Amino acid sequence: MIKRLVVGNWKMNGLGSTFVEVSKLSDALDQIDIKNDVLLCPPATLLAGLSQKFSSSKLAFGGQDCHSQASGPYTGDISAEMLRDAGATCVILGHSERRIRYNESSSAIKKKAAAAHRAGLNSIICVGETLDERQKGLAIKTIDSQLTASLPSGCNANNVTVAYEPVWAIGTGLTPSVHDVGGMHTHIRDTLSKKFKNGEKFRLIYGGSVKPENVSWLAGADNVDGVLVGGASIRAKDFLEIIVKCGVVHDDFR
Ligand code: PEP
Repeated sequence: MIKRLVVGNWKMNGLGSTFVEVSKLSDALDQIDIKNDVLLCPPATLLAGLSQKFSSSKLAFGGQDCHSQASGPYTGDISAEMLRDAGATCVILGHSERRIRYNESSSAIKKKAAAAHRAGLNSIICVGETLDERQKGLAIKTIDSQLTASLPSGCNANNVTVAYEPVWAIGTGLTPSVHDVGGMHTHIRDTLSKKFKNGEKFRLIYGGSVKPENVSWLAGADNVDGVLVGGASIRAKDFLEIIVKCGVVHDDFR
C-alpha cells in the first residue's frame, strides 16, 4: 500500500509570525496518530528556520522551485543543493503558476528534477490541463506530453511524486468530479507503470481547491495517494483537518 502524502504549498505567503501557526500544527500532530506523510513548502525565507525549529516534529519541509544548476551567476535563484542545506527533503517542480507565469517548459522542469535528485531531494512534479484544453478534449494528451517531457531519467517511485493539478481548479474553488479525478489518476498510474519499473508504485497526489469540506471525496477517488493544498494549508486548523481526513479516507474508502 502506498503511504499517503499531504503537501502544503504556501506559495508567496508567510512571514516570521507564521511560526505560530506551524507550532499549533506541530503540537496538534504530536497528539494524534497520523497515517500520512506531511510536507510543508513555505517560502524559501522561512525554510531553514522552520526546518530547524521543527526538526523533531512529524513535519517535513520542502521548496517550491529550484534552479537546475548547483551554483553560479543566477541572481535571485535557489539551487536544489541550497534547499537541501536549508533542511528541505523535497521540492515542488512545474507548478502551473510557474509553467504559465514564468513560461517554464517541461524540458526546463526535467532539468530541475534531475538537479533535485542530484542534490538528494525528492521531487513533486506537477502536471495539469487548462480549462481550454479540457473543454477541447485535450486533457489526457496534455498530461501525457507533460509527463513524458518533465520526468528525467533515473526517476522512480522513491524520488518522484506526481501531482495532478488541473490549472482551472487551482485557487478558484472549482474542483473536478470524483470521476474525473479518479479517471485521470488511473490514466497516470497506467502510464507510469508502462514507462518505469515499479511505475505503479509512484505516489500520485491531487491538487486544486482542496479544503476540509471536500478532501474526503477528492482523496477517496481512485488512485489518489494524497493531496497538494495551497490556500487551505496556511491556517493550522484547516490543514490539520485535511491531514486527518486524508488519513481516514485511506481506511474507509479503500
Ligand atoms: C496549489 O498551490 O498547488 C493549489 C492546489 O492551490 P489551491 O489549493 O489554493 O487551489
